[in-house]
Amino acid sequence: SLSERLETAFKQIKGQGQITELNVASTVKEIRRALVDADVNYKIAKEFTDKVKEKALGEKVLNAISPGQLMVKVVQDELAELMGGTEEGLDLKTSPTVILIAGLQGSGKTTFSGKLARFLKQNRHKSPLLVAADVYRPAAIDQLKVLGEQIGIPVYHEPDQKDPVLIARNALKEAKTKGHNVIIIDTAGRLAVDEAMMTEVADIKAAVAPQEVLFVVDAMTGQDAVNTAKAFNERLDFTGVVLTKLDGDTRGGAALSIKYTVEKPIKFISMGEKLDTLDVFYPERMAQRILGMGDITTLVERAQAQYDEAVAARIEKKIRKNQFDFEDFITQLQQIKKMGNIKDLLGMIPGMGKAVKDLDISDDAFKGIEAIIGSMTPYERTHPDVIDSSRRRRIAGGAGKDIQEINQFMKQFEQMRQMMKGMNKFSAAGRGMRAMK
Ligand code: GDP
Ligand code: MG
Repeated sequence: SLSERLETAFKQIKGQGQITELNVASTVKEIRRALVDADVNYKIAKEFTDKVKEKALGEKVLNAISPGQLMVKVVQDELAELMGGTEEGLDLKTSPTVILIAGLQGSGKTTFSGKLARFLKQNRHKSPLLVAADVYRPAAIDQLKVLGEQIGIPVYHEPDQKDPVLIARNALKEAKTKGHNVIIIDTAGRLAVDEAMMTEVADIKAAVAPQEVLFVVDAMTGQDAVNTAKAFNERLDFTGVVLTKLDGDTRGGAALSIKYTVEKPIKFISMGEKLDTLDVFYPERMAQRILGMGDITTLVERAQAQYDEAVAARIEKKIRKNQFDFEDFITQLQQIKKMGNIKDLLGMIPGMGKAVKDLDISDDAFKGIEAIIGSMTPYERTHPDVIDSSRRRRIAGGAGKDIQEINQFMKQFEQMRQMMKGMNKFSAAGRGMRAMK
């Protein structure tokens, strides 16, 4: 992967005592190769590494910083710069704000429309209206309706209307009468760039004067993504890019080249089919991720957005009273699961990216635990101490596990409770000490 290749490139300079023309040149050459292999256009890669070289040689090497650290820092800054420098938000001042979604078929437009609607409702407290303007495939309208239902957002559609321009116009009127302050228009795409598709989207754009035209592109398509972006930008002059499928096996080239090529910011990245896997794009964080430094900021933000304070407070109280039970355990697992795919989450911890890459951690990582707790009676869940060997046998049967697995699980749970007890003593002592001051 790109991260691994860059790490190798840094390796040789990391051991060096100082920055020299020679060691910078060879490191930079490795970096350029890594970028080109990650599908970054040669010209961009060359310009990038020329800049890195110039900066690295121009820096006064401070005593505190080693040549290796310096190179990593220079590359990190330049990667962020290449991807856009700072974060670019959406322009949501106008009411209703019209957001037009364009891109090739299969790029993820409909999925993104749903994710964006959810994001604007939850994180920006907007009242969006989704608009189904893909009139060629009946399934496309149904897909959007299903998404809308999942997130509780209305979908405007006209079953017999074949003119997407009219649908868009009518939807805008509907939004005004019904008080929606954002409308998101999901359009039809085709398998390749063609005139009919471009004309259609351009006509919709002319009819509804959107504040944002977002171009959605599959990050896995590498160089093609950049070419498609160019073609769409020439016709639509879009306001931003959405990179989808970054959860897949992408080489990273699209993220690195698009901003440079079309001079439009990447605004969102999408990392999965589930609706809660949309993230605002921050160039610095992406640069850190590419360098394998993790993305702790996004992790913390996701945790904050998903963690239910009231639930957390209730559980904390029970822990303090040594009453933590299986109900609480399940609730905690659910909170963690809400934050997204476990592997993604672990990957955001600095240094963990590589370690978890080959691990077999599925979304179902908690399934076994849930099955065991699910086979307990409500009374057992809230009274862990009553679970004797005959109850364990029954639970094992219900969960499809061996009795040993249940014993093991009960032991771990007990250890966890003991640990919590220990922490209680500790924090009680802490409270006491503060009180004495
Ligand atoms: P559209 O034709 O542009 O509307 O594309 P869709 O939204 O229908 O998406 C095409 C396929 O890609 C669907 O199977 C989606 O579930 C999937 N998809 C969309 N976004 C992502 C993503 O970020 N990650 C992954 N893994 N799949 C995605
Ligand atoms: Mg679609």
